[in-house]
Amino acid sequence: MNKTENYPVATANLLIAQKNAILASIIANSDDTIISKTLNGIITSWNPAAERMFGYCEAEALGRHISLIIPEERLDEEVFIISQIRQGKKVDHFETVRKAKDGRLVPISLSVSPITNRDGIIVGASKIARDISERKRADEKQAVLAAIVATSDDAIISKTLKGIITSWNKAATQMFGYTEAEALGRHISLIIPHDRLPEEDHIISAIVKGNKINHFHTFRQAKDGHLVPLSLSISPIIDTEGKVVGASKIARDISEQQLLQAEKARLYEQVRILNDKKDEFIGLASHELRTPLTSISGYLQILGRMISNEKGQQFLAKTRLQVKKLGALVDDLLDVSKIEAGKLPLSTEAFDIRKVVDDTLELLSYSNTQFKFTLHTTISELIISGDSHRIEQVIINLLSNAIRYAPGTDRVELFLAHDAENMTIGIKDFGVGIAADKLKDIFSRFYRIDDVNPVTSGLGIGLYLSHEIISRHGGKIWVESELGKGSTFWFSLPLHPAHPLQISN
Ligand code: ADP
Repeated sequence: MNKTENYPVATANLLIAQKNAILASIIANSDDTIISKTLNGIITSWNPAAERMFGYCEAEALGRHISLIIPEERLDEEVFIISQIRQGKKVDHFETVRKAKDGRLVPISLSVSPITNRDGIIVGASKIARDISERKRADEKQAVLAAIVATSDDAIISKTLKGIITSWNKAATQMFGYTEAEALGRHISLIIPHDRLPEEDHIISAIVKGNKINHFHTFRQAKDGHLVPLSLSISPIIDTEGKVVGASKIARDISEQQLLQAEKARLYEQVRILNDKKDEFIGLASHELRTPLTSISGYLQILGRMISNEKGQQFLAKTRLQVKKLGALVDDLLDVSKIEAGKLPLSTEAFDIRKVVDDTLELLSYSNTQFKFTLHTTISELIISGDSHRIEQVIINLLSNAIRYAPGTDRVELFLAHDAENMTIGIKDFGVGIAADKLKDIFSRFYRIDDVNPVTSGLGIGLYLSHEIISRHGGKIWVESELGKGSTFWFSLPLHPAHPLQISN
């Protein structure tokens, strides 16, 4: 029964008019294209969205055949749609393409319903068309991405933040031996060797913060147990609200060789950083030690004037000697840190090397009375150019070593000679000597041959400093030695340096 039959005819007509007005307004304002047509395909209504979609205005479309917007090769579709409508059937979400006025093809999703007249006879069809270009584009993009993932030579795996595998491509199957079905839903630890499980925590903590991990070299374990050397790149998966919801990782098979090389480079870099830190520490520590040492020496001098008894003076002399030794060590350390920083200062002046040798010998004979020092030379004066204090430091280092590494002996011999270009100094002891395989390291920083001379303390700095000083003067330093028989340390300096002294590195 018609609902309007309960109302007076005028009211019923009013209600129908209102309903029609509402429908007309909905249709006019709809974002979807709404078109109606007769069963012969003649367009009977055309809303503004249809105009926006196809470019024809209402006046251009009304009364025209619907083939106006159907591409030629799709005209059959209309036959099918109309046959459905004639049977009173709806056509839902039919995805197709229509043609706009300017020839542009518009991908749409069509829903077509029969229109019946008051007597229930089907007289036409109304169709709602929704533009699906955006979705189509997204679908296409997705398909391209899926194809890339499927055909990639790299294993591409995605997982949730809890480590549950959510995608697994063909290359992952080839690399690890698990099929997609075996891997999906499993925890990523499936392919992580036991001793490398902590890596996963580091990875996830970086991913949660939204950070990427690039070219992380590691091993993963295949189904048959063999270890696969890999370069991993892992990126966060971010949802539409910008929240990190998982991680996608690309694993590239690398050769073991490459992996070892990468690990070596990483370790080398770590060692380099630690080495820099150590140098920095040595520099700071020696500076810090220098300050109190200077005040101790000052106070010892004051004490020296205040103490009158002999015993007290003896103790004071011993203390002074130890403070002096400590001072020399700290100075050596400071020099090392200056060399490392490229800031060891050298002065340059003309000086008599014979006099420097004599002065040094006198100084050392004074505190090493049990040793006989013999100087073999024909030179009474030889003026050379350089930093006399630093050259003296080298001679003292070599002479002290000749004494320290020759326990139980009582003589040291010195040689001073020159030719047209160089002067040479040799310092020969009869002590423990140096094994042939150790000679190449002897001038390295902090190098000591502890097994041969465990009782002689030292820092392995003296020869390193000496080498640096002599090299900076354009000279050479070397050693001849035989284990158990003794050593001769030599150095030569150019008489007429070709280049000015390298004042700083
Ligand atoms: P330090 O003597 O403080 O250890 P050096 O740089 O002067 O440092 O010497 C480095 C190492 O070379 C010494 O530890 C010692 O093993 C060896 N060496 C140096 N001079 C001699 C020497 N005359 N005879 C034998 N070994 C020596």
